[in-house]
Amino acid sequence: MFGNQTNARYLIRDPEMPGSSRRILRGILCGAGSRAGLQKALGLSPGTISEQIAGMVRAGLLVEAAAPSNASRGRPRIGLQAHPRTFAAAGLDFGSGHLRGGLFSADGQVLGWLEISRVWNHAEEALGAAKLMLPRLLAALPLGTPLLGLGIADPGMVETGSGRSLGAVHIPGWQDFRLADVMTVCGPRVVVRPSAQMKGLAEMLHGGLRGVRNGVFLDLGMGVGAALMLEGHVLGGHRGLAGEFGHVCVNPSGLDCTCGGRGCLETECSGRAIASAAAKARTDGTLLGNSLLLRGRSPDAQAVARAALAGDPLARKIYGRAGRMLGIALGGLINLLDPEYVIVGGGLSAAGDLLMDPAKEVLRSQALCASAGLPAIRFSPLSLTQVGALGAASSVMLNYLEAA
Ligand SMILES: [Zn+2]
Repeated sequence: MFGNQTNARYLIRDPEMPGSSRRILRGILCGAGSRAGLQKALGLSPGTISEQIAGMVRAGLLVEAAAPSNASRGRPRIGLQAHPRTFAAAGLDFGSGHLRGGLFSADGQVLGWLEISRVWNHAEEALGAAKLMLPRLLAALPLGTPLLGLGIADPGMVETGSGRSLGAVHIPGWQDFRLADVMTVCGPRVVVRPSAQMKGLAEMLHGGLRGVRNGVFLDLGMGVGAALMLEGHVLGGHRGLAGEFGHVCVNPSGLDCTCGGRGCLETECSGRAIASAAAKARTDGTLLGNSLLLRGRSPDAQAVARAALAGDPLARKIYGRAGRMLGIALGGLINLLDPEYVIVGGGLSAAGDLLMDPAKEVLRSQALCASAGLPAIRFSPLSLTQVGALGAASSVMLNYLEAA
């Protein structure tokens, strides 16, 4: 419990909730939405679960609702949800060309949303914009709903122990400060994790990894990251840097990477890699005379995808190679972790099967578990623009619920 901080518009405080209620609520947020699911997840007796839940419903922490069911007959199952007024949390998502802020209720509803599209010249500029944004965002907090704190999706690497940001390739000066020290308006509970880990938390509570114990979220955008979900938790790693999937080497004689390495996945399969491959093809004479990629300005990854879908052979070749490289790296990850689901998100996921078909082809031949059946590979159901801030807010809710 931390000290109350009041201002005219919102109240930062933890709700009174015993440890047993927090464990039940965590189970519900992670997808165990029925008594039977909670019994299994928490290892408690049916009597204890029923008694606890009845108390939580009376206290206004939970609401019961008919759960969606595939069964066409019989009584609808009763599902459990967090009451939207139980608490709220704010999430900020910093990117090289944006700042997005969301205020979310315990059941994941958007209470407030603000965003800025801008390429940051310096970290100070981005941090200044966030300081201005936060009070406006928090003004959307419903009266009487406790605010747990603020989660921040760091655009680069952040060290868990010290909380220091260690650098973000596309924001100059994004290093050697603690975001928790800069963003104090939400009180002392500020959770900072790399962006891909935050997005993985959003998938775990609201998306493709809900109700799953072991899964992987791939964040395929201009860069590449991953969240590794093991036994119901998104792995942070020793220093908090777990999930730097974009810097797994797939081509030792390949291109130099921003990390200082060579042939990382990010140099072969990312928005930047696909745009560079198209630009290179335009200048080195490998383009076919009638390729769509020759028209207009040098195409970005989306334009290459459109050309590929229109049947352009070179565009298809570029995506085919990127997909196969993704398959090589993903095969290693699947062999290591044995996930039940792989959820594919990020801007590049819009290319869909153009990217994933060649990746799956490699997986079928390389993943050890292929003979026993590959994990289910699905595209993220969450909003591309909201997933980072939603995950950041989710990290705060989990931090509170796991503190007991
Ligand atoms: Zn690298």
